[in-house]
Amino acid sequence: MYIYDTSKKEKRRFTPLKEGEVSLYVCGPTVYDDAHLGHAKSALTFDLLNRVLQANGYKVRYARNITDIDDKIIKKSLETKEPISNITAFYTKRFHADMAQLGVLPPSIEPKATENLDAMFALISKLLQNGCAYKTASGDIYFDTAKDPKYLSLSQRKQEEEQKQQRIEKNEAKKNSADFALWKAVDDLAFESPFGKGRPGWHLECSAMIHKHLAYRDEAFEIDIHGGGADLLFPHHENEAAQTRCAEHKELAAYWMHNGFVRVNGEKMSKSLGNSFFLKDALKLYDGEVLRFYLLSTHYRSDFNFSTQDLENAKKRLDKLYRLKKRLFGLPEQDALQTPFKTQLLKALSDDLNVSKALSLIDEFITQTNETLDTPGKHKQLKKEASANLAYIADILGFGVQNPYSYFQRGIDEATKEEIEQLIQQRNEAKKSKNFEEADALRDKILAHGVSIMDTPQGTFWEKA
Ligand SMILES: [Zn+2]
Repeated sequence: MYIYDTSKKEKRRFTPLKEGEVSLYVCGPTVYDDAHLGHAKSALTFDLLNRVLQANGYKVRYARNITDIDDKIIKKSLETKEPISNITAFYTKRFHADMAQLGVLPPSIEPKATENLDAMFALISKLLQNGCAYKTASGDIYFDTAKDPKYLSLSQRKQEEEQKQQRIEKNEAKKNSADFALWKAVDDLAFESPFGKGRPGWHLECSAMIHKHLAYRDEAFEIDIHGGGADLLFPHHENEAAQTRCAEHKELAAYWMHNGFVRVNGEKMSKSLGNSFFLKDALKLYDGEVLRFYLLSTHYRSDFNFSTQDLENAKKRLDKLYRLKKRLFGLPEQDALQTPFKTQLLKALSDDLNVSKALSLIDEFITQTNETLDTPGKHKQLKKEASANLAYIADILGFGVQNPYSYFQRGIDEATKEEIEQLIQQRNEAKKSKNFEEADALRDKILAHGVSIMDTPQGTFWEKA
């Protein structure tokens, strides 16, 4: 397998620290609002990575955290007068629901900041003891970036540029402008700690959680792969790396992976720009799997420009896969069958998740299979292989996981769906009792809903016409 390692700025052969195992950590959401497309892109990228690693035979331990301590959460709590725990529980649930719709598999563990304060205290204590952190008169604790000779080696920024770019801070208590808070001494909505009442800094939690939940104690790196959006490279990941380097005397991750930005109409998406496209809005209009297909169809490192036209085109491409699935519907599962296509698909995705290559292989497979099925003959072996290939695509990419008939019912409301199902049942009963006139009348009633029906050996199915 090959991975583009952001810290080395090159594609490298992936060799795990422990044979057959991979430890993967990805920075998860801060739960104070609904997920936007940027969250979706990151979650999907590392979901795909997780699946491809597993397809390569690795046992993956995958942690994605939930940041449930943050100033933005506190602000929301003050604005809405809702307790913090209600807000974080609400948005965590919403995040999980959105991810499920996108077909993102749950990580192995999902540590929360509020449940890992012990690990954060331990990390701060280590840094205070070895002189890499200092306490100010007001009780805040800062990481001393001057104590880490490798600071900025991950993002490869220049210290001088950094200082120039930094807003002039009024905080005289900091030794260097790049120093960041490990602990903020506050009285309101604070946690008790060995350093007094306060709240942890955001960067701290990932290093602490990695050390507590995932880290190898006897390797040169804490974990194999650390991932997240490109916007996290600096300062978040740089600061995580510095803390761990100074506290544990080793590097945080052997490989760093970053997914590109999501832009809407060419602009970088962020809350402050006000053009944030919430995932829930997109999910109202499109099937989660269509969005999954669309968001994954561009290589993860490229910036993604969201456009409705491209989304429509992605849907058409996914429709083709489902049409083939429908053509082969009812054949026995062929999971175990090895095919050349499966080998090629895994090879493409194992090359730094080369999704363009994977999608062109899929297009080619669909076209060729359809062409052969159009020729006379039973094509037993081809059907077996094609079924095996479709099952593999569903497993590794999460495309084509639904019943093909249900997939084509998208856009029909639940009440109408129920009515159609009832009419189909009535029609089948009429047919059984040889009441063909009534069966025909019921058929017309069904078709009046703008759907078509197919009688197959597996039963009667319908879809949007
Ligand atoms: Zn993080």
